[in-house]
Amino acid sequence: MTEGRAAQPPRVLVVLGMGGTIAGRAANAQDVVGYQAGVVPVADLLAGLVPPDGMRLEAEQVANVDSKDMTPALWQALLAAAWRHLQRPEVAALVITHGTDTLEETAWLLHAVLQPRRPVVLVGAMRPASAAAPDGPQNLADALTLAGDAVAQTAGGVWVTLAGRVFDARAVRKVHPARADAFGAGDGGPAAWVEAGRVRWLAQPAAVSPHPDQAARVQAVLTAQRWPRVEWISSHGGADGALVRALLRQRHAAVAGEDADAPLAGLVVAGTGNGSLHTELVAALADAEDQGVTVWVTTRCPEGEVIPGDGGRARRPFAVTDLPPAKARLALSLHLLWQQAALS
Ligand code: ASP
Repeated sequence: MTEGRAAQPPRVLVVLGMGGTIAGRAANAQDVVGYQAGVVPVADLLAGLVPPDGMRLEAEQVANVDSKDMTPALWQALLAAAWRHLQRPEVAALVITHGTDTLEETAWLLHAVLQPRRPVVLVGAMRPASAAAPDGPQNLADALTLAGDAVAQTAGGVWVTLAGRVFDARAVRKVHPARADAFGAGDGGPAAWVEAGRVRWLAQPAAVSPHPDQAARVQAVLTAQRWPRVEWISSHGGADGALVRALLRQRHAAVAGEDADAPLAGLVVAGTGNGSLHTELVAALADAEDQGVTVWVTTRCPEGEVIPGDGGRARRPFAVTDLPPAKARLALSLHLLWQQAALS
């Protein structure tokens, strides 16, 4: 009789449910617009799907919402659950089912805060689970494949998959309100494709290397009562700075205790072209900076990033970020939060 090797216990792939269209249901199978997002439990979405070889699935419902209604409290709940599971040595990867509307924000936040050495894969759908041909089951199957993929296992990091394409958390953006392949990554394109149960990487992803203060940074985010208020505005024809002045009045009122909302702490400004700003807006932003508001400039262009240099930004050397506006808003809020906690 040959002595067999002791069987390894299967590693765990945790699937966290946040809601979205992938968990949505409509009154009839033809309706792919008038449905309610965030209804079907994540455990039901997994019915009939098989885990990658050597893994078993575990499901946890963190929330079940339409992701247009994402809040810092929901993000904290997701970050806390993901962080808790990532501390478990038997956990090989996380998959997160999520609405597509703010998925890019959540992906970037998980990337910036958790810097996971094991893969975290976000997945959504553009048609509800009740549709005649829902895209969610295939997208979720692809997410499981990606989570178990050897390259992803080695690199770790936060990934997004939709319609057979894989994007990294930093580059991904929702680029279409209806198409099944609603995500893009601008001029960079996808990082990989999921094809018939295998992942084809277009380039080897770099392995994640967490920040030295990572655990303290995570705790600061998880325990913050309020995240610093950062608003996102644009430059455009007629941008005369009135919105900035209104926000400064809000800041003064909140600091004086006359407004219960968190005071304005930062502004992300999506400039035209290479971050150029209307001259009247520049004057209002300069006042905001003088009053202690941090200003970061990005571009409202859907592709590319601002090339630093004074260019059209004119007269005031505002800081420039290479992130698109939605992610820049979160990045600035995190920057201010970690700065307050002396963790920058
Ligand atoms: N409004 C939905 C959500 O973001 C859209 C979707 O999931 O595609 O939850």
